[in-house]
Amino acid sequence: MAVSKLQPWDHIAPVFDGGQRVFGENRVQEAKERWAQHRGQIELRLIGPLQTNKARDAVAFFDVIETLDREKLARVLADEIQAQGKAPRLYVQVNTGEEPQKAGIIPAEADAFVAACRETYGLNVEGLMCIPPADEDPAPHFRMLADIAARNGVAKLSMGMSDDFEVAVACGATSVRVGSALFGSR
Ligand SMILES: *Cc1c(COP(=O)(O)O)cnc(C)c1O
Repeated sequence: MAVSKLQPWDHIAPVFDGGQRVFGENRVQEAKERWAQHRGQIELRLIGPLQTNKARDAVAFFDVIETLDREKLARVLADEIQAQGKAPRLYVQVNTGEEPQKAGIIPAEADAFVAACRETYGLNVEGLMCIPPADEDPAPHFRMLADIAARNGVAKLSMGMSDDFEVAVACGATSVRVGSALFGSR
Protein backbone atom coordinates (compact mmCIF):
# COMPACT_ATOMS: atom_id res chain seq x y z
CA MET A 1 0.00 0.00 0.00
CA ALA A 2 1.38 3.39 -0.97
CA VAL A 3 0.56 5.90 1.79
CA SER A 4 -0.22 9.16 0.00
CA LYS A 5 -1.39 11.30 2.96
CA LEU A 6 -0.05 14.86 2.92
CA GLN A 7 1.82 14.30 -0.36
CA PRO A 8 1.51 16.76 -3.26
CA TRP A 9 0.16 15.27 -6.48
CA ASP A 10 3.49 15.71 -8.30
CA HIS A 11 5.01 13.20 -5.85
CA ILE A 12 2.11 10.77 -6.27
CA ALA A 13 1.73 11.01 -10.07
CA PRO A 14 4.87 9.03 -11.03
CA VAL A 15 3.85 6.19 -8.70
CA PHE A 16 0.25 6.20 -9.94
CA ASP A 17 1.35 6.45 -13.59
CA GLY A 18 3.79 3.61 -12.94
CA GLY A 19 0.88 1.34 -12.08
CA GLN A 20 0.55 1.41 -8.28
CA ARG A 21 -3.14 0.91 -7.51
CA VAL A 22 -3.43 0.48 -3.71
CA PHE A 23 -3.23 3.70 -1.70
CA GLY A 24 -3.61 4.52 2.00
CA GLU A 25 -4.94 7.73 3.54
CA ASN A 26 -5.45 8.68 7.16
CA ARG A 27 -8.21 11.30 6.86
CA VAL A 28 -11.54 10.89 5.14
CA GLN A 29 -11.89 14.46 3.87
CA GLU A 30 -8.30 14.70 2.64
CA ALA A 31 -8.67 11.38 0.81
CA LYS A 32 -11.81 12.60 -0.95
CA GLU A 33 -10.06 15.75 -2.10
CA ARG A 34 -6.98 13.90 -3.33
CA TRP A 35 -8.64 10.90 -4.97
CA ALA A 36 -12.16 11.87 -6.13
CA GLN A 37 -10.97 12.17 -9.73
CA HIS A 38 -9.22 8.76 -9.83
CA ARG A 39 -11.49 6.93 -7.41
CA GLY A 40 -12.62 4.24 -9.83
CA GLN A 41 -9.06 3.30 -10.73
CA ILE A 42 -7.62 2.52 -7.30
CA GLU A 43 -8.16 0.53 -4.12
CA LEU A 44 -8.30 3.04 -1.26
CA ARG A 45 -7.60 2.14 2.37
CA LEU A 46 -8.30 4.20 5.49
CA ILE A 47 -5.41 3.83 7.97
CA GLY A 48 -6.11 6.75 10.32
CA PRO A 49 -8.45 6.88 13.34
CA LEU A 50 -12.12 7.03 12.37
CA GLN A 51 -14.63 9.14 14.31
CA THR A 52 -18.15 7.76 14.30
CA ASN A 53 -19.50 10.98 12.73
CA LYS A 54 -17.31 10.24 9.67
CA ALA A 55 -18.36 6.60 9.37
CA ARG A 56 -20.97 7.30 6.67
CA ASP A 57 -18.41 9.00 4.43
CA ALA A 58 -15.79 6.36 5.16
CA VAL A 59 -18.09 3.48 4.21
CA ALA A 60 -19.10 5.33 1.06
CA PHE A 61 -15.58 6.23 -0.08
CA PHE A 62 -13.13 3.51 1.08
CA ASP A 63 -12.59 -0.07 -0.08
CA VAL A 64 -10.88 -1.03 3.18
CA ILE A 65 -11.05 0.44 6.71
CA GLU A 66 -8.04 -0.66 8.79
CA THR A 67 -8.81 1.19 12.02
CA LEU A 68 -11.80 -0.57 13.58
CA ASP A 69 -10.93 -0.43 17.29
CA ARG A 70 -14.01 -0.01 19.50
CA GLU A 71 -17.54 -1.29 19.92
CA LYS A 72 -19.23 2.01 19.22
CA LEU A 73 -17.46 2.21 15.86
CA ALA A 74 -18.35 -1.43 15.09
CA ARG A 75 -22.02 -0.65 15.73
CA VAL A 76 -22.01 2.49 13.59
CA LEU A 77 -20.14 0.75 10.74
CA ALA A 78 -22.58 -2.16 10.82
CA ASP A 79 -25.50 0.28 10.55
CA GLU A 80 -23.89 2.16 7.66
CA ILE A 81 -23.05 -1.06 5.81
CA GLN A 82 -26.73 -2.05 6.06
CA ALA A 83 -27.98 1.38 5.04
CA GLN A 84 -25.62 1.75 2.07
CA GLY A 85 -25.65 -1.88 0.90
CA LYS A 86 -21.88 -1.60 0.57
CA ALA A 87 -19.30 -3.23 2.84
CA PRO A 88 -15.71 -2.06 2.99
CA ARG A 89 -13.29 -4.81 4.02
CA LEU A 90 -12.38 -4.35 7.69
CA TYR A 91 -9.19 -4.65 9.75
CA VAL A 92 -9.09 -4.38 13.54
CA GLN A 93 -6.34 -2.08 14.79
CA VAL A 94 -4.46 -3.44 17.82
CA ASN A 95 -2.45 -1.10 20.07
CA THR A 96 0.31 -3.68 20.64
CA GLY A 97 2.45 -1.24 22.65
CA GLU A 98 -0.55 -0.12 24.76
CA GLU A 99 0.42 3.51 24.10
CA PRO A 100 -2.18 5.92 25.55
CA GLN A 101 -1.89 8.37 22.63
CA LYS A 102 -2.37 5.66 20.01
CA ALA A 103 -5.62 4.22 18.65
CA GLY A 104 -6.33 0.49 18.69
CA ILE A 105 -7.80 -2.14 20.97
CA ILE A 106 -5.39 -3.33 23.67
CA PRO A 107 -4.05 -6.87 23.14
CA ALA A 108 -5.83 -8.34 26.19
CA GLU A 109 -9.18 -7.27 24.70
CA ALA A 110 -8.46 -8.20 21.09
CA ASP A 111 -9.97 -11.71 21.08
CA ALA A 112 -13.21 -10.55 22.69
CA PHE A 113 -13.41 -7.56 20.35
CA VAL A 114 -12.94 -9.64 17.20
CA ALA A 115 -15.63 -12.02 18.48
CA ALA A 116 -18.00 -9.12 19.18
CA CYS A 117 -17.40 -7.65 15.71
CA ARG A 118 -18.36 -10.97 14.18
CA GLU A 119 -21.12 -12.20 16.47
CA THR A 120 -22.75 -9.04 17.79
CA TYR A 121 -22.34 -6.76 14.77
CA GLY A 122 -22.13 -9.29 11.92
CA LEU A 123 -18.91 -7.76 10.58
CA ASN A 124 -16.39 -9.74 8.56
CA VAL A 125 -12.94 -9.08 10.04
CA GLU A 126 -10.51 -9.55 7.16
CA GLY A 127 -7.32 -8.58 8.97
CA LEU A 128 -5.47 -6.95 11.85
CA MET A 129 -3.35 -3.80 11.77
CA CYS A 130 -0.76 -2.37 14.17
CA ILE A 131 1.67 0.53 14.49
CA PRO A 132 4.46 -0.46 16.92
CA PRO A 133 5.95 2.15 19.29
CA ALA A 134 8.45 4.30 17.39
CA ASP A 135 11.33 3.69 19.80
CA GLU A 136 11.10 -0.11 20.18
CA ASP A 137 12.16 -3.16 18.21
CA PRO A 138 9.05 -3.74 16.08
CA ALA A 139 9.52 -7.52 15.70
CA PRO A 140 7.85 -8.55 19.00
CA HIS A 141 4.88 -6.32 18.13
CA PHE A 142 4.55 -7.85 14.67
CA ARG A 143 4.79 -11.35 16.15
CA MET A 144 2.13 -10.48 18.72
CA LEU A 145 -0.21 -9.29 15.96
CA ALA A 146 0.42 -12.50 13.98
CA ASP A 147 -0.38 -14.58 17.09
CA ILE A 148 -3.65 -12.72 17.72
CA ALA A 149 -4.62 -13.23 14.07
CA ALA A 150 -3.76 -16.94 14.11
CA ARG A 151 -5.74 -17.75 17.25
CA ASN A 152 -8.77 -15.83 15.96
CA GLY A 153 -8.73 -17.19 12.43
CA VAL A 154 -8.01 -13.78 10.88
CA ALA A 155 -6.25 -14.04 7.51
CA LYS A 156 -4.54 -10.72 6.80
CA LEU A 157 -1.87 -8.67 8.59
CA SER A 158 -1.30 -4.98 7.76
CA MET A 159 2.02 -4.17 9.39
CA GLY A 160 5.29 -2.47 8.51
CA MET A 161 6.05 1.07 7.32
CA SER A 162 9.01 2.71 5.56
CA ASP A 163 11.46 2.02 8.38
CA ASP A 164 10.46 -1.53 9.27
CA PHE A 165 8.63 -3.19 6.39
CA GLU A 166 11.31 -5.85 5.84
CA VAL A 167 10.97 -6.97 9.47
CA ALA A 168 7.18 -6.98 9.08
CA VAL A 169 7.34 -9.16 5.98
CA ALA A 170 9.63 -11.59 7.82
CA CYS A 171 6.98 -11.74 10.60
CA GLY A 172 4.16 -12.55 8.16
CA ALA A 173 2.79 -9.22 6.91
CA THR A 174 0.35 -9.64 4.01
CA SER A 175 0.50 -5.91 3.26
CA VAL A 176 2.89 -3.13 4.23
CA ARG A 177 2.05 0.59 4.43
CA VAL A 178 4.86 2.58 2.85
CA GLY A 179 4.76 6.36 2.56
CA SER A 180 7.97 8.37 2.84
CA ALA A 181 10.20 5.68 1.31
CA LEU A 182 8.12 5.99 -1.90
CA PHE A 183 7.15 9.65 -1.98
CA GLY A 184 9.75 11.46 0.14
CA SER A 185 9.32 12.95 3.60
CA ARG A 186 6.03 14.70 4.45
C1 LIG B 1 1.73 7.66 7.71
C2 LIG B 1 1.46 6.24 7.98
C3 LIG B 1 2.21 5.22 7.36
C4 LIG B 1 3.37 5.48 6.43
O1 LIG B 1 4.50 5.87 7.18
P1 LIG B 1 5.95 6.00 6.47
O2 LIG B 1 6.87 5.94 7.63
O3 LIG B 1 5.95 7.31 5.76
O4 LIG B 1 6.11 4.84 5.55
C5 LIG B 1 1.85 3.91 7.64
N1 LIG B 1 0.83 3.60 8.45
C6 LIG B 1 0.09 4.54 9.07
C7 LIG B 1 -1.02 4.13 9.96
C8 LIG B 1 0.38 5.89 8.86
O5 LIG B 1 -0.35 6.82 9.48
